[in-house]
Amino acid sequence: MGGGTPDPSGRSVLIQLSRLRRIRDMDTDNDTVTVEAGCVLQDVQSATRAVGRLFPLSLGAEGSCTIGGNLGTNAGGTQVLRYGNARELTLGLEVVTAEGEIWNGLRGLRKDNTGYDLRDLYIGSEGTLGIITAATLRLYPLPQASYAGLLAFAGLAEAVAFLSVARQRFSATLTAFEIISAEVLRLIGQNRPQFSLPVNPGEAGVAWYALLEISDTHSHQNVRNVFTDVVAQGVEDGLVIDAIVAESEAQRQHLWLLREHEISAAQNVEGPNVKHDVSVRISQIPSFVDEVVERLRERFPGCRPVIFGHLGDGNLHFNVSAPEGQDAHDFMQWEQEIHDIVHEAVRVFSGSISAEHGIGQAKVSLLRNHKSAVELDLMLRIKQALDPHNLFNPGKVLQPVLDKSQMIVSTR
Ligand SMILES: Cc1cc2nc3c(=O)[nH]c(=O)nc-3n(C[C@H](O)[C@H](O)[C@H](O)COP(=O)(O)OP(=O)(O)OC[C@H]3O[C@@H](n4cnc5c(N)ncnc54)[C@H](O)[C@@H]3O)c2cc1C
Repeated sequence: MGGGTPDPSGRSVLIQLSRLRRIRDMDTDNDTVTVEAGCVLQDVQSATRAVGRLFPLSLGAEGSCTIGGNLGTNAGGTQVLRYGNARELTLGLEVVTAEGEIWNGLRGLRKDNTGYDLRDLYIGSEGTLGIITAATLRLYPLPQASYAGLLAFAGLAEAVAFLSVARQRFSATLTAFEIISAEVLRLIGQNRPQFSLPVNPGEAGVAWYALLEISDTHSHQNVRNVFTDVVAQGVEDGLVIDAIVAESEAQRQHLWLLREHEISAAQNVEGPNVKHDVSVRISQIPSFVDEVVERLRERFPGCRPVIFGHLGDGNLHFNVSAPEGQDAHDFMQWEQEIHDIVHEAVRVFSGSISAEHGIGQAKVSLLRNHKSAVELDLMLRIKQALDPHNLFNPGKVLQPVLDKSQMIVSTR
């Protein structure tokens, strides 16, 4: 969304936090770790795994993204269904304020009802309210076994109905329910011949696939039995058409490679496409997708929706590619019109125009159509109170509704 990219004025100061990379405290009795904001997410995952704990935030960028950026964007990822997003995984923050003071909120408490929750203000604020320098993060028991499979569905309605069954039957062991359209698998088959697809994307009657994972502290055999039992029930109920299960760790990783790497790689081969990161209620996803696809195809015959995402969180990455044979760069001339079609449907379905990627600069102008005047006014007043001179990440999130002449002058 461009939240970390300066405006073109040439007058911005960039702050690099990569030297703030210490793990300050690992408290296994409290199930918390306190890390500095420049720590790379994957390093935090490894450090906690080494002491037998799980830090569950997990996403495709984990080898390079930092805790500061994860909290700045309130990152989601593939395990939100079970563990929540970055906000839910954070117990406390250390922040440098606009006045240059340090607020230390790293107490690691699970209960603390002593007034306004400053932590939640800073998380997801995309660097516009202060600079996060450290965080106390919540840890979980390390699962002993994970089991994954790729399930085929005739339609999204069946996938949503099976998600509901899976939630009931797997309960807290269900850690991921990722949806991928059959068209996306066909795109990978076409553009990434070096990747061996685990299923034939041309399978008759199959329009969607779901990558399901359960994780448990019991044995692998136990997890496998529960998994196959629930999938068998899905087949019996007529919800699941077909399923392949990962019988080894290598096969499990292959399924995740498909989800986290191959989709982007297959799209990149063709050049740009029009991207959206939206959410609606899980129950409304089938009608939302039907409606948007129909409108897009009416207006741009032959365009190819590339849809995948975190069905368990109601979050779709809804990209639109040029019709077969049409130049991808040429197709981008319709970007704004395509955004309008998708985002108007999001508004009608009372969804969100940015489920997990934030507002940055790319979606600043959209906020006005998707937030009420009261909400925008409250946000503006928070910005004015915490950053009266508009020093932090100017032009991001709120700029168009931010009139500098109205900014409160600090009395300090
Ligand atoms: C391949 C790939 C897959 C991804 N998959 C997912 C996914 O599944 N789910 C998801 O939610 N996201 C996903 N993302 C987006 C990802 O969450 C963000 O790119 C990442 O969290 C940002 O971290 P960063 O260190 O790169 O931050 P940057 O890009 O440097 O910054 C991101 C924002 O946070 C602010 N910020 C950075 N550091 C601080 C700080 N210390 N204090 C205050 N504000 C700060 C910046 O100003 C900026 O607005 C993906 C990205 C990629 C490239």
